[in-house]
Amino acid sequence: MVAVETQRRADILSTLGIEVGGSVSGVAYAGAFEEGHGEILETFDPTTGQLLACVQTPNQADYDRAVEAAREAFVRWRTVPAPRRGEIVRQLGNLFRERKEDLARLISLENGKILSEARGEVQEVIDVCDFAVGLSRQLYGREMHSERAEHRLFEQWHPLGVVGIISAFNFPVAVPGWGWAIALTCGDSILWKPSELTPLISIAAQRVFQQVTNGTEAEGIFSLVVGPGATTGEALINDPRIPLIQATGSCRMGQRVAEVVGKRTGRAILELGGNNAVIVLDDADLDLALRAVVFGAVGTAGQRCTSTRRLILQRGIAPTFVDRLVHAYGSVSIGDPLDGRTLMGPLISARAVDGFRDGMDEIRRQGGNVLYGGRVLDLQPGGYFVEPTIVRSHASMPVCAEEIFAPILHAFEVASLDEAVELNNAVPQGLSSSLFTRDLRAASEWLSARGSDCGIANVNVGTSGAEIGGAFGGEKATGGGRQAGSDAWKAYMRRQTCTVNYGSGLPLAQGVRFEVG
Ligand code: NAD
Repeated sequence: MVAVETQRRADILSTLGIEVGGSVSGVAYAGAFEEGHGEILETFDPTTGQLLACVQTPNQADYDRAVEAAREAFVRWRTVPAPRRGEIVRQLGNLFRERKEDLARLISLENGKILSEARGEVQEVIDVCDFAVGLSRQLYGREMHSERAEHRLFEQWHPLGVVGIISAFNFPVAVPGWGWAIALTCGDSILWKPSELTPLISIAAQRVFQQVTNGTEAEGIFSLVVGPGATTGEALINDPRIPLIQATGSCRMGQRVAEVVGKRTGRAILELGGNNAVIVLDDADLDLALRAVVFGAVGTAGQRCTSTRRLILQRGIAPTFVDRLVHAYGSVSIGDPLDGRTLMGPLISARAVDGFRDGMDEIRRQGGNVLYGGRVLDLQPGGYFVEPTIVRSHASMPVCAEEIFAPILHAFEVASLDEAVELNNAVPQGLSSSLFTRDLRAASEWLSARGSDCGIANVNVGTSGAEIGGAFGGEKATGGGRQAGSDAWKAYMRRQTCTVNYGSGLPLAQGVRFEVG
């Protein structure tokens, strides 16, 4: 049985100004929360299954007002010099710094990830804000040499418009934060539709936004529309007033977004599901690999897009490694994510527990041999707990190609690096991948064009826990989008190529002659 502190939960909600089971608006625009006239959405504590709050969602008219407000805010914001936009992002980062503990507790309560990971999630928002402040002075275009005399040829980057951010439950602030911190710096305004499973944390974030931006030139640049994917989400993706949709979630959702946004020739940054593998070669540092695999597979209860789902072991070390892994799994403490001793909290919902159960049934039916775990746990009445699970699987099992969003790890044995790479690349998704080896040639092969086909390829580092400085995203069914650092900002702006003639002739490109008279 998990010891759950009820008072602590009520205290966390009170930082939002709501009582347990109370009502709160999930609609905000033009710098204020407004009454939402759509259906009421209930949000639950995954540790106890108890109702946390009832959230008002927008109807079509509320939604339209939010979009129009976001458009008006964009028209003002796009003319604010980028370094001044960066200054607002700096203040946002600072307020997230100040509120880190409060927000982390709310994430832990509503999402179920352990406090340390929830703190890491808020830290990620702070980090991307810091990055974006620097970026605000580096939105560089290039100048090219024109082939025509007395001509200048260059590119410049302009703000794009309202960016629609659709986010998943598992990173309720960090991943949308990768988007909004960069988009704001780029001069865009934001319309955020968070996951219906984690609305409270987005409401808390919206309050932070309002505290910083109200009364400044940035007032109203953040709008929030909490609502179901099938209604509010569909409204966003179908809306021609939103030139860019940043969508994080399952591959199925992403396919729908790609279809709808593609049809209206809008832009989409798709950040979808992963099926990430760690390869451990015979010469690897097994201590290092073990720690990385346990964190990758069990951390966040297996609910990261980058969670380790497949373990590909070279034959020489496979039996030892599996034994050590089974032993390590036995010492994972499962329980209340708000308790500092817990390493694994609950899954997000009853539906996720069903997904775990169905997945395990399928794995057994297809010949998987459960080495550890496999059961749903009754740790707390109403709580959504399962065991972290290791299965000896065969590459031919179709279920291994699926992302089951739970802590299930398939272990495979291979003879060589070539076979391991082939297996790594044999799934529809292409997000994150890792190789553990001490061999420079193996590591370089892995990172070469015939190595990993994923958006993230690591050596002696696990699949999860990316830093914001690099561009984050994956290939194939993962969607191809990139967010956060490096030059991911370019997707949030429109590129313009300009030619200026400062001479008195009109030479045509490619030497074309077209003289009249
Ligand atoms: P989900 O697909 O169920 O929902 C994600 C979001 O999409 C939610 O806000 C939902 O309301 C919305 N949505 C659903 N249908 C929609 C529609 N028709 N139109 C518009 N919006 C719609 O995903 P989830 O269960 O919240 O999150 C887990 C998934 O997200 C996993 O597959 C995970 O790998 C993926 N994920 C990917 C990344 C990444 O960066 N690649 C990061 C986090 C999570």
